[in-house]
Amino acid sequence: MAHPLRDPSRLAALRVFGLPQIFVLRSALGAGELTALLPAAAQTGSFAPHAPSPPARWVAPASAAARGVAPADAAATDAAPATSPRAQGSRLQQIDSLDLDGLRALSEQCRACKLGAQRHRAVFSAGNKEASLMIVGEAPGADEDRMGEPFVGAAGRLLDNMLRAIGLDRNAADPARSVYIANVIKCRPPGNRNPEPDEVAQCDPILQRQIALLRPRVLLALGRFAAQALTNSTEPVGRLRQQRMRYRDVPVIVTYHPAYLLRTPMDKAKAWLDLCAVRDLLDAGAADSPA
Ligand code: SF4
Repeated sequence: MAHPLRDPSRLAALRVFGLPQIFVLRSALGAGELTALLPAAAQTGSFAPHAPSPPARWVAPASAAARGVAPADAAATDAAPATSPRAQGSRLQQIDSLDLDGLRALSEQCRACKLGAQRHRAVFSAGNKEASLMIVGEAPGADEDRMGEPFVGAAGRLLDNMLRAIGLDRNAADPARSVYIANVIKCRPPGNRNPEPDEVAQCDPILQRQIALLRPRVLLALGRFAAQALTNSTEPVGRLRQQRMRYRDVPVIVTYHPAYLLRTPMDKAKAWLDLCAVRDLLDAGAADSPA
């Protein structure tokens, strides 16, 4: 069987993605770089899909306090933000006790930051809960706010083509071919402005719980806010991409947000290299998984 990056059936997706055929022949990482990115378990041949990771090796994102953000009342899903550390602790406990359906329900009722009062619909996720790849974007736009689904509209179509180019599909039933998509922020910032630090801090525990429940094999961060949330870095995407990073024990690949790529098509070639790294990691994990 042809390697996914060399499969002729990917050519159509690559053309729509805006890349010439030459990129089909290229893989992003050498064997040494790939090995360095993989969890240690994978390198010793015991890399099980969705295996829990040793906490000591996790690199957690910054807490709200570390980001200099005032704590807010999170337990209250239908109230204005509050400042009580006790209420914040109660909210975090509540989030940590929920499964994905419960988290979705909480998000749909949440008023823990000011975006909750302005949204039409909270945008929790799309895709397959069993997927090996979890994609994290930034925040809903107008189309997503109306439809309640991440990455619809022009940026969503580009993302779908980017995924098809490496043999993935958000609607696939097969976990090996599907993806799970979520955003750092679940509610639309008005006018598509950047999320504010207090909004990121309030929504971050929901994302962290999503990742803990999903246990993805690979994380793909799209754009600056997702990259910074998963790597605890303030560096721009251009510096974070192609680096060896992990969220806890999960390899993180950083690339440009599809909305940015629509405005800056020259950077699609760099995004393709990042996608090749995702494909390589998924293939390496699959090869190391027990039969
Ligand atoms: S953006 Fe997140 S924290 Fe703010 S109201 Fe929506 S779900 Fe709650």
